[in-house]
Amino acid sequence: MTVAYQLTEAGTRLSRATIERRPLGPRDVRLALKYCGICHSDLVAASDKLGGGMYPMVPGHEMVGVITEMGAEVSGVAVGDAVGVGCIADSCRTCASCESGDEHYCETGFTLSFNSTDRDGRVNYGGYASDYVVDFDYLVPIPEGADLARMAPLLCGGITVYTPLKRFNVGPGTTLCVLGVGGLGHLAIQFASAMGAKVLVASRSEAKRADAKRLGADEVLNPESGDLQAWMGQCDLIVDTISNPHDLNQWFPLLRRGGKLCLLGVPTEQLEVFPALIVFGDRSLEGSLIGGIADTREMVQFAHAKGIGAEIELIQPEEIEAAWHRLHDGDVQYRFVIDLASLTPS
Ligand SMILES: [Zn+2]
Ligand SMILES: [Zn+2]
Repeated sequence: MTVAYQLTEAGTRLSRATIERRPLGPRDVRLALKYCGICHSDLVAASDKLGGGMYPMVPGHEMVGVITEMGAEVSGVAVGDAVGVGCIADSCRTCASCESGDEHYCETGFTLSFNSTDRDGRVNYGGYASDYVVDFDYLVPIPEGADLARMAPLLCGGITVYTPLKRFNVGPGTTLCVLGVGGLGHLAIQFASAMGAKVLVASRSEAKRADAKRLGADEVLNPESGDLQAWMGQCDLIVDTISNPHDLNQWFPLLRRGGKLCLLGVPTEQLEVFPALIVFGDRSLEGSLIGGIADTREMVQFAHAKGIGAEIELIQPEEIEAAWHRLHDGDVQYRFVIDLASLTPS
């Protein structure tokens, strides 16, 4: 029996219920879930703003738990191991994207860990629950000794920022600017700093600029003052984590020739771009979506080795609704994580 928090329809309240997971297949593992992060896309799915919502819906895709049961063909992990599951629960495994480790761009569409159907057509319920069942190819091992609650948000938020930093070869000698200090931004600062880059952070909030410094930023800039002037043409990469509509054109001049502005947030309205800022500067606008399984595994190891984790507010399952409201208002430092211990039938 799985205890979960579910929505019966779009926009309804979350209620505690029991759900049924699929039977354990030969390649499946069952995890007793310990923690699940709350990602902004849980709210988007719950509201059904983008359509395609499947109800009843159990949100949650930043799960960390411990393996309690394994199918006969599972190898490389053992009962008792701490593992995570992020957004990807399955994919076709044979297309060019899957073969190159980019399951998130699977040409047949990857199977989301919640609000989707598995390859046999059964509904996938997410991680606001006592347990989870997943094919072991999509597990992310969590290093021994890691703080499981702080690791949970890395399964979506962490990989979302890690992928572009890796893709654009961020390291010593790179100057990078992070836009937005929130769930994604506070992780981007930590990862980029640990990779040896010079990290600038732009935020209108004095408190967030102070936090950015604490998290490893070398320079903090207030875009409403003259702070940006000194950095014109200096940046190799801008990591834009802002999910509300905002002005991109203000930022392109920070990029050197060949520099890239990479969108990680997904505002649901159009953003305007003044073409000359791209054409004359040989600059580009990029986008990046989560990341593949191999990169997620690498990211978690890197984070553990460097002491990187999400800054979290740990909540009980009864507090999810209130947390959603606060997240909607941007009132969280910096990720809510649900302690699922009270859901586990003892
Ligand atoms: Zn997410
Ligand atoms: Zn595929």
